[in-house]
Amino acid sequence: MQKYLFIVLLSSLALGCGSGTKNGNAEDKRVLTVTIEPQRYFLDQIVGDAFTVNTLVPPGTSPETYEPAPSVMIDMGKSDIYFMVGGLGFENAWSKRLTENNPDVTIVNCSEGIDLMEGHGHNHDHAHGHHDQADGHGHAHSHGAMDPHVWSSPLAVKIFIRNMLGAVVKADPDNEEIFRTGFDEFSVKIDRTDSLIRNLLVNIPSKSFIIYHPALGYFARDYGLYQYSVEFEGKSPSPSQIKELVDIARKEKINTVFIQRGFDTKNAAVIAQEIGAEVFEIDPLRYEWDEELLRIATILARETDE
Ligand SMILES: [Zn+2]
Repeated sequence: MQKYLFIVLLSSLALGCGSGTKNGNAEDKRVLTVTIEPQRYFLDQIVGDAFTVNTLVPPGTSPETYEPAPSVMIDMGKSDIYFMVGGLGFENAWSKRLTENNPDVTIVNCSEGIDLMEGHGHNHDHAHGHHDQADGHGHAHSHGAMDPHVWSSPLAVKIFIRNMLGAVVKADPDNEEIFRTGFDEFSVKIDRTDSLIRNLLVNIPSKSFIIYHPALGYFARDYGLYQYSVEFEGKSPSPSQIKELVDIARKEKINTVFIQRGFDTKNAAVIAQEIGAEVFEIDPLRYEWDEELLRIATILARETDE
């Protein structure tokens, strides 16, 4: 710190008095780091331009398999706060390492307080009726980490952004008024988005849909829909799993198959063709979070020729 001050003093001396000392505040701005783009969108609504917000996972990349380059740790160390989604891919390992290297960085698990669902591999359960006999201690769940895709739910996002608000107010109490105003305005926008989605999904042709990667579980929970994922426990499906999915799709008259950039599309296309459904590419990692949710609801609500 002292060294930094010294350099600042030196450079203002060199420039003489006056204009030289006022650099654009881009360099001085404090930094927040997030895992995915929707989180940057949320923070932008709350903090305005009080902070610079950096996103770790680049566009078109799966956060489940993404491994940040070692140099990323250095940038993360310069942030005031790292906002993890909570339990997504590299997040736990990286936040632990971040704490070890940079104890000054505050780590916030944005999913804290959200009622989490069981994750990958359990999406077919309600079609089966019962679990295989476990040994009495729930080992049938050993592979079932919690589903991290909470941001597909407007209701969950309201809790999510409350966690964000608390952390930024703590980091920058002088701007609390501004942050609270941004938060309130965004909350209203979320409510509006939620009711628009609800209206769109009244009387849709099928309450079920197929998706390659199960990114819409919380969206489905909010709106009484069923998500069937092609991917099984993070892996490509076996032929028998594909057959099972095709049978369910016929029974439930599924006409929508979602795919996502950064994930396999071939198996989804095969299934779509088999059941005569349409394939749509969606982007649950898009910055314009509310627009994308509305787009997904509009796809589900479209007229089909049945
Ligand atoms: Zn995912």
